[in-house]
Amino acid sequence: MRLANKTALITGGNSGIGLATARLFIAEGARVAITGRNQERLDAAKAELGSNLLTFQADVTDIAATERAVAGAVEAFGPLDILFANAGIPGATPVGGTTLATFEQVLRTNLTAVFFTIQATLPHLRDGASIILNGSVHAVLGMPGYSAYAATKAGVRAMTRVVASELAPRRIRVNTVVPGATRTPIWDRLAPDAAALAALEAKISKMVPLGRLGDAEELAKAVLFLASDDSSYVTGTELVVDGGATGSPSGAPIYR
Ligand code: NAP
Repeated sequence: MRLANKTALITGGNSGIGLATARLFIAEGARVAITGRNQERLDAAKAELGSNLLTFQADVTDIAATERAVAGAVEAFGPLDILFANAGIPGATPVGGTTLATFEQVLRTNLTAVFFTIQATLPHLRDGASIILNGSVHAVLGMPGYSAYAATKAGVRAMTRVVASELAPRRIRVNTVVPGATRTPIWDRLAPDAAALAALEAKISKMVPLGRLGDAEELAKAVLFLASDDSSYVTGTELVVDGGATGSPSGAPIYR
């Protein structure tokens, strides 16, 4: 048990990478609080994961709601050992066709809310705690149509280093996990049915040296490493989990 007696808060824990991480954390002995907007998916997570899981309906862009979720988690668990600031939205923002409201919604959700989630949690984190942020390969890929999303994830990367410096005196470690294309409901809008999803996966897989998308469980294992004492000397950095897409792009099937 790598998280025995530890407590964790995961934003966006009712789906995809956040839910897989909640599942793994609990299997490793932790008590976990998750947030999200969708009550049905929060209830489904609760039904699956039981008494070691607490759920809070909270929109990360609503700072007061986040503060209430943190207070609820702390009331139930006591001080927190782990924060996984995971909630995020993709949001296409092509240049020439994007409203200010759409652009700002992506920034508020993926970047501003990450900072204020850390700020809300900070007074309740134990010294020596671990904060993990969720980045993306979009920070460096230059993928067309995703200016706002890429900017937020590049911002998360930079913020990791700043906050790691600020919290070092309390031995709080701050790192980012950087997923490449990972099979989660985040793709639903781009690929609304099974055939569209298969076509999208086939296309993306050609750009990934390991020739496939990742699974949420593979990301959760990387988050577990950053959350646990296994990474006790790791702070201010990124753990890239992308099948080689950014480190070794020349190995992708498209070049074979
Ligand atoms: P997902 O299955 O769609 O999960 C996204 C989670 O974020 C959901 O739990 C969602 O819950 C929550 N969320 C979104 N907006 C929120 C808000 N305003 N307030 C509270 N919660 C909110 O997608 P995922 O792939 O697991 O995404 C998790 C993280 O991984 C994101 O930060 C994403 O950018 C990053 N990522 C994913 C991939 C990928 O290929 N899957 C690649 C790179 C990075 P509600 O809808 O209930 O609010």
